[in-house]
Amino acid sequence: MAQDTVIDTRHDLVAEDHARALDAADPLARFRERFYLPPGGGIYLDGNSLGLLSTDAEAEVLRALDEWKRLGIDGWMRGNPPWYWNGEELGKRVAPLVGAAPDQVVVTGTTTVNIHALVGTFYRPAGARRKIVATGLDFPSDVYALQSQIRLQGGDPARDLVLVPSRDGRTLEEDDLIAAFTGTVGLALLPSVLYRSGQLLDMERLTAAARERGVLIGFDCAHSIGAVPHRFDDWGVDFAVWCSYKYLNAGPGSVAGLYVNRRHFGTEPGLAGWWGYQKERQFDMAHHWEGAVGAGAWQISTGPLLSTAPLFGSIRIHEEAGMGALRAKSLAQTAYLMDLLDAMGLTAAPYHYRIGTPRQPERRGGHVAVEHDAGPRIARALKARGVVPDFRPPNVVRLAPIPLYTSYHELWRAAHHLRQIVEREEHLAGDDGREIVA
Ligand SMILES: *Cc1c(COP(=O)(O)O)cnc(C)c1O
Repeated sequence: MAQDTVIDTRHDLVAEDHARALDAADPLARFRERFYLPPGGGIYLDGNSLGLLSTDAEAEVLRALDEWKRLGIDGWMRGNPPWYWNGEELGKRVAPLVGAAPDQVVVTGTTTVNIHALVGTFYRPAGARRKIVATGLDFPSDVYALQSQIRLQGGDPARDLVLVPSRDGRTLEEDDLIAAFTGTVGLALLPSVLYRSGQLLDMERLTAAARERGVLIGFDCAHSIGAVPHRFDDWGVDFAVWCSYKYLNAGPGSVAGLYVNRRHFGTEPGLAGWWGYQKERQFDMAHHWEGAVGAGAWQISTGPLLSTAPLFGSIRIHEEAGMGALRAKSLAQTAYLMDLLDAMGLTAAPYHYRIGTPRQPERRGGHVAVEHDAGPRIARALKARGVVPDFRPPNVVRLAPIPLYTSYHELWRAAHHLRQIVEREEHLAGDDGREIVA
């Protein structure tokens, strides 16, 4: 992976002018004006949790509403584009982001539902291979889904779900994961980027090791889609899921996506529905299952028009910017932020911030985990100062520079807010309580 994070050492890293110069030289700076940023100079650093609305996505929602208004039922065939093929059409557009041929990707469902659809297809405990490998740092929804899938197959999650532990509480070792791919394991579902620390796992290496050992492997790419390039076809990944409301900016609860490697085409979906039928014959209304040839077979229900439409706009922005340029800027911005916190002395006494994200570019996703013992109060103080981070227990304030709309100068300002919060003892005020959605 290209090392694009070099800061020009002739400049003083901590200087405000340096941040301004980085913005002036930024080839992606022009995309910022297509997003609705917080009013009054607020700094939005939570696009890894919920990406912001763009004018492009907004226009597509209004287009869909207008088509519904004018066309009613005819929108399925006469919408522009026809609604009927939204899942397949958007699948083709998202496929390059995961390094897949177009027919292996479909835009459908939501992340957890798609985990159920795919694990419910590919987890077929048989003989000795009854176990599923996941990780001790997984996003909770993935764990709940796996536990319930094991129960549905008559298994016991306490015995059959292997959560590979972290050695340091932040990151995972690929060696530990591979060591867990034993002859008793049928399937592994792993995160691409860990939601808390932002560590990027080596998906290529993990896939090769799983396949050598007869383990089916899938990835949850909720925290890497749109932030990190993927090469699923080259790597030979079996299946994957992701959401489109984080780095893809398609709106809260917007329709998600999934990948199925073509070696599994024709496998009967574990959770079938008419939207996965051969599209040309779906309306013959036959009772005998005839699945679409491709990832489309894993669709279940009628595609939700209004939560699909925004992706047409947000993916267009992604296509214009280019995944390579987005990744390069993301790495440069996360490196800048971490280096700046170091250079300002914030990662030492008396400030005591800690960086929980790996420093190596090839081990880093799109956000920076800033740890602090007063984490919840730091997050609240940032928000009171107009900086939107998020907080993940026990002590992680996540800061995500989004290459489409975050400027270097905003990162510079955010770092100064972090300094002032401690200097003015705002982190000592109030309790550790947090809002339900933090
Ligand atoms: C955001 C996220 C989800 C969210 O799941 P939904 O079904 O969209 O609510 C799931 N898994 C991971 C790893 C995530 O980061």
